[in-house]
Amino acid sequence: MPEITVVGSLNLDTTVRVPHLPVPGETVLGTGHFDDSGGKGANQAVAASRLGRSVAMVGQVGDDDAGRRLVSSLTVAGVDVAAVTISGTTPSGVAVITVDSAGENMIVVDPGANGTFSPSDLDPFLPVVREATVVLAQLEIPIETVATALAAATGTVILNPAPAAPLDPEVLGHVDVLVPNATELGLLAGSPPPVTPAETISMAQRLDGMLGTVVVTLGAVGAVVVGDGYTEHVPAPEVVAVDPTAAGDAFCGGLAVALVAGENLVDAVRWAVRCGAVAATRWGAQASLPTTEEVESLEGTE
Ligand code: ADP
Repeated sequence: MPEITVVGSLNLDTTVRVPHLPVPGETVLGTGHFDDSGGKGANQAVAASRLGRSVAMVGQVGDDDAGRRLVSSLTVAGVDVAAVTISGTTPSGVAVITVDSAGENMIVVDPGANGTFSPSDLDPFLPVVREATVVLAQLEIPIETVATALAAATGTVILNPAPAAPLDPEVLGHVDVLVPNATELGLLAGSPPPVTPAETISMAQRLDGMLGTVVVTLGAVGAVVVGDGYTEHVPAPEVVAVDPTAAGDAFCGGLAVALVAGENLVDAVRWAVRCGAVAATRWGAQASLPTTEEVESLEGTE
């Protein structure tokens, strides 16, 4: 059985570099493009596997070239794909990403087979969820499927509530560590996204139904940890960021790995911010995810 089970999405990403992000109705000429395997679930699985832990992916692709490429990327990264199912009717998920010269991005995702991954598709793989030390999930698959997985988990449950969506207290009740970014926290709290670490902490403390810990990622500002009776701001190392795609996924994968290693949450977040920072310095989704050595060699630049 794997140490970490990821229940989530697999998408083929097409990234286009643009001088500036388009506004509605505008056509912007790109300055280059490439395809990469992505999807928050698959990215987090690859992130954790590249950092040295045994990882299983649970999810769904289409019966198409994109699906075969997505499964092959996971296999090459050492992720167990026995629980990746193939839809006979729906194509694989895709993401179209534009990144401007300042490193800001805009993403459109069409879920495809991720969107049809139902609780009954998940059912045969519940043992892989139940027995994992850490279960990682996101919101690019149906919420009922996420809820079923989290209810079955017996290990530590990390939920990255991305893309932002309202969550009912029943789902939040199964979560040990909730990892939103600032935008997602704002949506969950019903407020505009927080800007400073102090605002972030007070918003996270007001989340209705959240019983465990909240870790909020804040891009270049790092992350804040809001636990029962303590808070901590963990700054990110200073890096030259070129493409933030998958920085949050590197963070979540890194957090899962550090928790499996038995680190306390604040130390685990210190490791995770470094993982996110390395990913932000590189182009692409899975292509940008670091190994342990690469994260360690970033140490000291904080
Ligand atoms: P998301 O990509 O999900 O919106 P964030 O932008 O908050 O997530 O980034 C996740 C993590 O990646 C941050 O907590 C930080 O550790 C790292 N990171 C992202 N952007 C930068 C940056 N410009 N400089 C340093 N670290 C960064």
